Amino acid sequence: MANVSEIFGSMVFNESVMKQRLPKDVYKAMRKTISDGKRLDITLANVIANTMKDWAVENGATHFTHWFQPMTGITAEKHDSFISPSAEGNIIMEFSGKELVQGEPDASSFPSGGLRATFEARGYTAWDPTSYAFIKNNTLCIPTAFCSYGGEALDKKTPLLRSMEAINKQAMRVLKLFGNERVTSVKTTVGPEQEYFLIEREMFDKRPDLVYTGRTLFGAMPPKGQEMDDHYFGTIKTRVKGFMAELDEELWKLGILAKTEHNEVAPAQHELAPIFTTTNIATDHNQLTMELMQRIAKKHGLVCLLHEKPFEGVNGSGKHNNWSLSTSEGTNLLEPGDTPHENAQFLTFVCAVIKAVDDYQDLLRVSVASAGNDHRLGANEAPPAIISMFLGEELTSILESIENDKDYDAKEKSILKVGVHVLPRFAKDATDRNRTSPFAFTGNKFEFRSLGSTASVSGPNVVLNTAVAQSLKEFADELEKAEDFGSALHDLIKRTIKEHKKIIFNGNGYGDEWIAEAEKRGLLNLKTTPDCLPYYINEKNKKLFAEHKIYTETELRSRYEIKLESYSKTINIEALTMIDMVNKDVLPAVSGFVGKLAKTLACKQSLNLELDCSYEEDCISELSALSSEIHTKAFAFKKALSDMDKNMDAQKTAEFYCNEIVGRMEALRASVDAAEQLTERSAWPYPSYGDLMFGVR
Ligand code: ADP
Ligand code: MG
Repeated sequence: MANVSEIFGSMVFNESVMKQRLPKDVYKAMRKTISDGKRLDITLANVIANTMKDWAVENGATHFTHWFQPMTGITAEKHDSFISPSAEGNIIMEFSGKELVQGEPDASSFPSGGLRATFEARGYTAWDPTSYAFIKNNTLCIPTAFCSYGGEALDKKTPLLRSMEAINKQAMRVLKLFGNERVTSVKTTVGPEQEYFLIEREMFDKRPDLVYTGRTLFGAMPPKGQEMDDHYFGTIKTRVKGFMAELDEELWKLGILAKTEHNEVAPAQHELAPIFTTTNIATDHNQLTMELMQRIAKKHGLVCLLHEKPFEGVNGSGKHNNWSLSTSEGTNLLEPGDTPHENAQFLTFVCAVIKAVDDYQDLLRVSVASAGNDHRLGANEAPPAIISMFLGEELTSILESIENDKDYDAKEKSILKVGVHVLPRFAKDATDRNRTSPFAFTGNKFEFRSLGSTASVSGPNVVLNTAVAQSLKEFADELEKAEDFGSALHDLIKRTIKEHKKIIFNGNGYGDEWIAEAEKRGLLNLKTTPDCLPYYINEKNKKLFAEHKIYTETELRSRYEIKLESYSKTINIEALTMIDMVNKDVLPAVSGFVGKLAKTLACKQSLNLELDCSYEEDCISELSALSSEIHTKAFAFKKALSDMDKNMDAQKTAEFYCNEIVGRMEALRASVDAAEQLTERSAWPYPSYGDLMFGVR
C-alpha cells in the first residue's frame, strides 16, 4: 500500500504545485482568477501552460485534452499530443496559453437539443481554472466548459458555474446585512455519496440486457434476496476489497477525497462517500469517480453497474447529494452557532432553503428525472416522487415556536425571538434518522436523496443553487429596505415558515398515508419523467433561470428536448433488447427444453409400464402455454413499436413510451420470469439473479 499522504493529489496541478512552480506574480494572478473569477491575460496563460506541460511530461503525460461534460451526462475528451516539429527535424513538447484557454473539439455529435445545427457544428471549450488540471491515462486533462459559438452552454458545467455565481451574489447581500464584512465569497459545497453494484465480468458478458441497457430486463428472484439484511455494512469480500483499495488509491492520486467505502443493502451493492468540497469540483470528481469505478472493476474481472435499478426485487442505486454553503472564511452557513446573532443568520439561510424547496419542488423533481430513476422513486426503497423536507423534531419545534410566538423552552417560558435568543445545538444523531425523506436536514447540511446513481450531480445542484439564490434575493430585497433590521428579520422568518411549512414532513415518506396527505397539502406528485418534464419550461421556471442568468430560454428548451429524447431512446433500446432476447434466446431455450421433456415422456410411455408422467406432462403444458404467451406478447409489442406515430413531438413520444411501452415490458417480463422458474437450470440462456448477485467471491 502506497503512502497516502505522498500519493494524494500527486496527479493534480494543484495549489502547492502552482505555488512551487509558477513565478510569484503569475501565481498571484492565477489565485485571483481562481478565487474571484478574474480573467487571465494571454502572456500569463502562456507561462501557466508551459509550466503545466513540463509538470505533466515529468509525470508521464504525452497528450493533453480539454475535459468537458456534454449534455449526455458523461464526460468527453479529445486528445492532442504535445509534440511539435522543431527546426532540426526533431520534436519538441509544446503547449501554448491559447491551447490551454480555448479548444475546438468540433464535437458535432453531442446532443444540443437543436441549439446547433450540425452544419454550424463547432462548439468550443473554455478552461475552467477553478477546477484543477489533472493527469489521467498519460493525458493532461484540463477541466473546461463547452459552448456554442453563439455563447450558448452546451454542457453541464457552464450552468453550474453560473448558478454558483448567482447564489454567491445573493448570499453576499444577505451576509452584508448581518454585518459580515470580511467574507469575500460564498460557495456551495457538495459531498455526493455514490452507490453501485459489482458483478462478475463473465456473467455480465452473457447478458445482452446488461450489455445494452445496464440493467436486467428479465430475471426471476432467487430464493434469497436482501431480506436478511446481512450484506449491509457486512464484511467486504477479498475481491471487492482489492477493487476498493485500488479505486481509493487512484482517486487519491487525482486529489479526490474518497473517505468511506461500505457494503449497501442489496447483495453485491456498495457505496463510496467522499469528503465534501466546492460544488463544481465535487461534480468533476464524481464524474471521475464513476469513470474510475468502471475502469478499475474491469481490471479485477468485475463490472461496475451504475444503473439506478440493475435488478428487480432488490434496492436500486442512488446518489445522496449533501449540500451546504460555505464562506471564504470557512464558516458553514447551515451550522447552528453559539450566539443569538449566529443563529439569526442560520435561521435565515435555513428558511431560504425551505422556501426554495417549496417554490421549486417541480424543478427539483425534474432535476432527478430519468428513465432509470423512474424505477426507484416511490418504489419504497428510495424517496417518493413527492418532494418534501425533513427537518427533525428539534428544528421543527423551533420554527413552530417562532411562527406562533409560543414558548420554545417550557421551563424558561421564553418566547423565541430571532436574533435575540440562542438556539440549542442540534445533536447530529437526532436529525439523521429519517431515511425516507427526499430532502433532509442532517445537522449542518441538507441531503437531497432523490438523485439516481448514474446522473451527473450538476443538474440537481444548478436547481438547488438557483432556487436558494432566488429566496435569498427576495430576502435581501426586503431586508435592505427595512428600518429596524431585527424586527423585519423576525417578521420575514415568521412569514416564510407560515407560507412554506407545507413542504416540511417528518413522518414516513414510504407510507401510503403520506401520498394522501401530500395531495391535501397541494404538493406535487409527479410520478414519471414525462409527467414532470413539462414543468421544466413553465413560465415560473423560465423566469427563475432568466433572472439569475442560468439558462436562456433557448438553452432551457434544448435541455428539455434532450431529457425527453434521452428518455424515449432509453426505453426504445430496452424494448428492442427484450424482443431480441425473447426471440433469439428465451423462446428457443424453452422450446428446446420442452422438446427434451417430450422425448422423455414419449420414452416413458413407450415402456407400457403405466408410469406416472405428471411432471413431464404438467411442465410441457405450462411451458407451452407460457411460450405462446411470450410469443404473442412480444409480437404485439413489436407491432406497437413499429406502428408508433413517428411525427409526434418529443413530449408526446415520451408519453407514448411511458404509457404504451413500459407496461408491455413489465407484462412480457412476468411471463419470461415464470418460464425461467420452470426451465432446467442449464437450459436457461442467461446467468440467473442468484449467479449475478451472489456470484462475486
Ligand atoms: P454520515 O452520513 O455517514 O454520518 P456525514 O453526514 O458526515 O456522514 O457525511 C455524509 C456526506 O456528507 C459525506 O460525503 C460528507 O463529505 C458530506 N458533507 C458533510 N458536511 C458537508 C457540508 N458542509 N457540505 C456538503 N457536504 C457535506
Ligand atoms: Mg448520509
